[in-house]
Amino acid sequence: MKERPVVLALGSNLGDRLANLQRAVNLLCGDGLRCTAVSGVYETAPVGGPPQDDYLNAVLLGRSGLPAGEILQLAQAAEAELHRVRAERWGPRTLDVDVIAYGDEISPDARLTLPHPRAHERAFVLVPWLEADPEAVLPGHGNVAGLVAATGTADVRRLDDVVLTLPPARPREAVT
Ligand code: ADP
Ligand code: MG
Repeated sequence: MKERPVVLALGSNLGDRLANLQRAVNLLCGDGLRCTAVSGVYETAPVGGPPQDDYLNAVLLGRSGLPAGEILQLAQAAEAELHRVRAERWGPRTLDVDVIAYGDEISPDARLTLPHPRAHERAFVLVPWLEADPEAVLPGHGNVAGLVAATGTADVRRLDDVVLTLPPARPREAVT
């Protein structure tokens, strides 16, 4: 299948938040998802849910030829690997991985809504995404730069002393 760009939003507000995000990057990037960029790390106030600690958020960009459902499976496998306990909706979590967009696919499916239905209003998604891709466009909503201008950046703070790194790309098998 033809490769399309994938946008994933990562969040953690429990345990070693930075280590959780880096583990997520390591788990997600591989043959199925060829990672191309990762944003800086942002500390953000929780949106909705019970009172809880601040999150660290980042956005991971890649390319994939997998069906969309398999991208969701990759995301959920990474969450499971980090022992996420689904105790409370929108409650604290070691790792949340949301599929923000997959190419220009539009799907109202409740199991995997594309693009993510709340991405356009979430500064903690939009600001790191814009950093990783200044040309980014959210299907159905336009330029991410314009969306950031609308949401503002008051609730997100870039941590300038930490970085996430992409695992080295594995050499592709020779195609004969
Ligand atoms: P949230 O991310 O809103 O805090 P969860 O991570 O618990 O909540 O996700 C709840 C459900 O959302 C998952 O079971 C998943 O099937 C569904 N879902 C629908 N669209 C998406 C998407 N674009 N990315 C990730 N999960 C999604
Ligand atoms: Mg989620």
